[in-house]
Amino acid sequence: MRKLFGLAVVAAVVFVSGCSAQESTDVSPPAEVETQAESSTGDETQAESSAEPCDPSVAHPQGAFEFAPKLDDSLPAEWREEFAVILTNLQEVAPISSCLHDFTDYETGENSVKSPMSIYAWSNTVSNPWPEEKPGMEGTSISGNGSDTWMILEMRSDDLAGGNIFQYSVIAHEYWHVYQRGAWMADSPPQGSGWPVWMWEGGAGVVQNLYTAEHYGSSDFDNNLSPVIATALSNPSDFELYDRDGGAAQGESDINGTTQTFMVLALAKELQTTLGLTEEQAFALALNPPAKPDSETAFLDVFGISLDAFYTSLAQYPAVESGEDWFEGTVVKASVVMPSKDLTLTAILLANRLNSEVKERHIPGVSTGSERVHIKCTSPSLTPQHQPRYTSPICWHPKRELTPSNTG
Ligand SMILES: [Zn+2]
Repeated sequence: MRKLFGLAVVAAVVFVSGCSAQESTDVSPPAEVETQAESSTGDETQAESSAEPCDPSVAHPQGAFEFAPKLDDSLPAEWREEFAVILTNLQEVAPISSCLHDFTDYETGENSVKSPMSIYAWSNTVSNPWPEEKPGMEGTSISGNGSDTWMILEMRSDDLAGGNIFQYSVIAHEYWHVYQRGAWMADSPPQGSGWPVWMWEGGAGVVQNLYTAEHYGSSDFDNNLSPVIATALSNPSDFELYDRDGGAAQGESDINGTTQTFMVLALAKELQTTLGLTEEQAFALALNPPAKPDSETAFLDVFGISLDAFYTSLAQYPAVESGEDWFEGTVVKASVVMPSKDLTLTAILLANRLNSEVKERHIPGVSTGSERVHIKCTSPSLTPQHQPRYTSPICWHPKRELTPSNTG
């Protein structure tokens, strides 16, 4: 995340979702930026008055969730063309849940994620081209004001001119934050404690790299996300909060968000080891879990391992010299958690859908700490080799009063 918000817009903009870091030196957004999770913690009354949970498998009266890109002429034509390709690809592979239409802002009571969602993109060679419509935009993020939500892509000219893959991966990163919101909390206002920040940001970090690996043949996985700074992982729970909120996520020890991305990769590896999931199934669960159950043991309920035990497991990855000229210090030896070269987001989400087809089954060894309502999920026809061994809870909806939040 870099230069997320200008001070001028702080009062009006409620932070929705963090963004990808290209440089870590300028990541700290203003402390005054308020997260919806913070602002809504502790008030239980709104959830009880919400409508019935949305069923993503049923056609929504407002249709599919769409985007309305606004691409400024300051961007190179080839970027604008590539943007269209990327957005189309992502919408095909990972369509946004139409339940996002029903997302209700906790404070305003409005459906605050409107379709089509505006995407504002421009080159930082010019100032914000939409100062009247959306004053103070800068950086890359998903932002909102309680009435509407939009994507900001202020592209750095250095990235555009230098062919940096980040100019494309950031699109997938921010798109995934919208996907996460639809998948995790479309039927609930953000309140209480949701999944930790590292799952939001690390998930988006994984997706952005999976996307560029598949479509451009390169990603930060190629160099094992280096550097994942070893000392940063000494307290993994620090990554449950953003740097601005007193945590370590997207702080100075989280260069380009790589620590959080590493944590999600490590979770996927752990799920393969402990639950015997295939790589696709493990990533499907790590990237796309259900909204956080309202349980003392939510992480355990969903992943079959306690959060503390997972954090402890990270100690298994040794610290080694970075080997990079530009970074002195030790880094986590992350190579063992890198995904297979041929792993794709398409395969992961297919595994997700296939897993969802098998209803009324639970992952062996995973306790279900709360009552779940099983909903119908559509699925492509199953072939024997694609028969899932385990059920991903992606199409489960938790009880109405469960309280996910939007710390992403
Ligand atoms: Zn992000």
